[in-house]
Amino acid sequence: MQQYLRIKVQHPDTLLFYRMGDFYELFFEDAEKAARILDITLTTRGASAGKPIKMAGVPHHALEPYLAKLVKIGESAVIAEQVGEPGATKGPMERAVSRIVTPGTLTDAALLDDRADAPLLAVQLNRGVLGLAWLNLANGDFRIVETEPESLISHLERLRPAEALLPESLKLPALEARVPAIRRLADWQFDAKTAQELLTTHFGTHDLAGFGAEGLDVALAAAAALFDYARATQRQSLGHISTLKVEAEGDYLRMDAHTRRNLEITETLRGEPAPTLLSLLDLSATSMGSRWLRHALHHPLANRHACRLRHDAVGMLLGNAGDGPLSAVGAALRTIADIERIATRIALSSVRPRELAALRDSLATLESVRAPISACSAELLQQIHQDLATPLDTLLLLQSAIAAEPATQVRDGGVIARGFDAELDELRDIQNNCGEFLVALETRERERTGISTLKVEFNRVHGFYIEVTHANTDKVPDDYRRRQTMKNAERYITPELKTFEDKALSAQERSLAREKLLYEEILARLLPQVGPLQRIAHAIALLDGLNAFAHAAARYDYRAPLLVEEPLIDIRGGRHPVVERQVDNFISNDVLLAPTRRMLLVTGPNMGGKSTYMRQVALIVLLAHCGAFVPASEARIGPMDAIFTRIGASDDLASGRSTFMVEMTEAAAILNAATDRSLVLMDEIGRGTSTFDGMALAYSIARHLLDKNQSYALFSTHYFELTRLGQEYPECANVHLGAVEHGHSIVFLHAVKDGPASQSYGIEVAALAGIPQTVVRDAKRRLRALESREIASGPQDDLFVGLPEPEPAQVSHPALTQLAELDPDSMSPREALEALYALRARLN
Ligand code: ADP
Repeated sequence: MQQYLRIKVQHPDTLLFYRMGDFYELFFEDAEKAARILDITLTTRGASAGKPIKMAGVPHHALEPYLAKLVKIGESAVIAEQVGEPGATKGPMERAVSRIVTPGTLTDAALLDDRADAPLLAVQLNRGVLGLAWLNLANGDFRIVETEPESLISHLERLRPAEALLPESLKLPALEARVPAIRRLADWQFDAKTAQELLTTHFGTHDLAGFGAEGLDVALAAAAALFDYARATQRQSLGHISTLKVEAEGDYLRMDAHTRRNLEITETLRGEPAPTLLSLLDLSATSMGSRWLRHALHHPLANRHACRLRHDAVGMLLGNAGDGPLSAVGAALRTIADIERIATRIALSSVRPRELAALRDSLATLESVRAPISACSAELLQQIHQDLATPLDTLLLLQSAIAAEPATQVRDGGVIARGFDAELDELRDIQNNCGEFLVALETRERERTGISTLKVEFNRVHGFYIEVTHANTDKVPDDYRRRQTMKNAERYITPELKTFEDKALSAQERSLAREKLLYEEILARLLPQVGPLQRIAHAIALLDGLNAFAHAAARYDYRAPLLVEEPLIDIRGGRHPVVERQVDNFISNDVLLAPTRRMLLVTGPNMGGKSTYMRQVALIVLLAHCGAFVPASEARIGPMDAIFTRIGASDDLASGRSTFMVEMTEAAAILNAATDRSLVLMDEIGRGTSTFDGMALAYSIARHLLDKNQSYALFSTHYFELTRLGQEYPECANVHLGAVEHGHSIVFLHAVKDGPASQSYGIEVAALAGIPQTVVRDAKRRLRALESREIASGPQDDLFVGLPEPEPAQVSHPALTQLAELDPDSMSPREALEALYALRARLN
């Protein structure tokens, strides 16, 4: 207990699994908690201060599934193993912490989801700057970014950290609600100077300028806490982290958290993994490729050249008529193990024999992966081809060292291949020759004694023996020593057999020890290969991801988008990638947005296809910037910087905001951030309040988008009054989704046509939804009455007539007119000063 408590004080907030013989035991509060969440039996053992000590445990061989369960719900665990030989010291066996398992620092294949990363994130907020540092320990990817506090949730959406580290004093409820495991560290652990020291020592560099991290003190403060924490959990240096990457805000098309969710990129709005963009496109053959895809879809590249390189590669994999190397690459990739994670486990000295065997077999097939692309001229594919050169030394080492099918654990033996080490082979021969020796001895002893039933045998408890039935006891020679008496027989040992026994038993022990030593030597020789292996893993992930894009293009008939320099979005025959898989006959539609046609006002009945149409434009733009082909017969897209959406209505109960408040917060964020290179989708804005409020807001928001943001905008609405904007602004066009009445029912055409819709068909849709006929009939009567203006109220007729247009103020002096026309918000100080002089001149 003293020993236990010594370890426990160092890990007060983490479940401590304490090895005792064949079990890992938990005590006190840990035991109660573990019993509850792991559903294991709570017992007691011994007493402390007169009270029984609570205890719960799991069998040592079943530890992993319990750990998996813990990390899944955001818990962590400390594992304390017995160290040293039993009986080597007096008193209880020594124990030491061997590993710390936390949700964000996993590297073990058994605990990780192979299709998604589980990064560790650290956050610091200082003087209005948000600093993020995150590490994907399983592949050594280590990044920082400095950004504005408002973008926190967007970063969380794309990074999906499994665990977050926060300074004690920092409160971030939005983060705490979204990350499964939160760990608070002392404020002093978030320190940029410490980061300088830690990281320059780790990377062996003079400073951090080479990484472009100089001066990013808030992000570096987070990096310090993160790095230290990760190192402590692994209990060793993190050799596989070879670089620090600094992300800049402009690296990717901006998408806020709502947009990521609304577009259902990797999760549906209900939080399910399918049907989503990822579930559709994830035709990858390896888990490395799958993880790459997930990442790529959340990180559309702002660098158009990089996008085009991907398009070229996808096109080449596809070939002219689907005759490219696509299938050959896919088939070869299917045999490749998760080299990325194995490399990490080599770096952390925790790699298992079977993982090395899998690495060996994968390296042996690299040639077949790259052969199909050897003649491809696309720059990316050539780079991949180069990176996939077989690392011969590593392969040879693994082939000569690791047994064809090694045991799971080194301590079981049978891990090192025959022929790798002469001493080991000799020790193994001794054990193998046992059988032969015993048969020979038996024959010899039968002849010598004349006892035909004499047997030479072995058992674990008593070792080797010669067994003679009682009937033959009198024929036993003098050199036989009695070992054990049985009911019907006597067991003996001879000096010769004893010598053999010593040799055989010690050979087994020595060969196991030898294997362990050799395994450690092999790991040490592999350590310098971690970097090259990571490069290979990265090339595989990229190739697999691009190949999945090519597969999708072939399977779903996608085409290469063109990223052009003109400012426009011109899509012909565009489709919604997910919806088109779910309906029998999807109608494709065009869209054209350009400086002379910045906004489309989309009208049409509910269920007419407005949201689908709007989203498909965003998804096509997104896919094009991920380097994928797109569901359209043609797509030309000019320079873009962001995708914003305001779609759907949902209460954000967790943060106590009503539907309308959520809607307006999202709209505010868009109006404040969208530029003339942003794509903005506004779906039925203003629905959450009274008709006039909503209509007025929608109208003003649309005008702000047209006047100020000048973004590419798709603006759907049920307020027909808004369609008037099409007359007021030449760059605003009306389009509608048509429907026709067919008998008592309504048929949606799903085709986008020019001009505003003529009718809402709200009542027809309500009837389709099963609203009782009496209600439907009543509503129709009411509508007719309204339309014939029997009960229509004044303002409903013409909402915007009474509103003051932003016309010049009623003033008399020309200087005042000029003053009224100034827009101080958009002037530089210099312009303002000049305007002031001009005004005074006019007055004079
Ligand atoms: P709205 O936003 O106008 O209410 P949605 O975009 O939600 O309509 O579309 C309603 C349904 O109509 C979709 O779930 C889909 O089944 C079908 N749909 C939408 N667009 C198309 C299309 N272009 N072709 C075929 N079916 C479509």
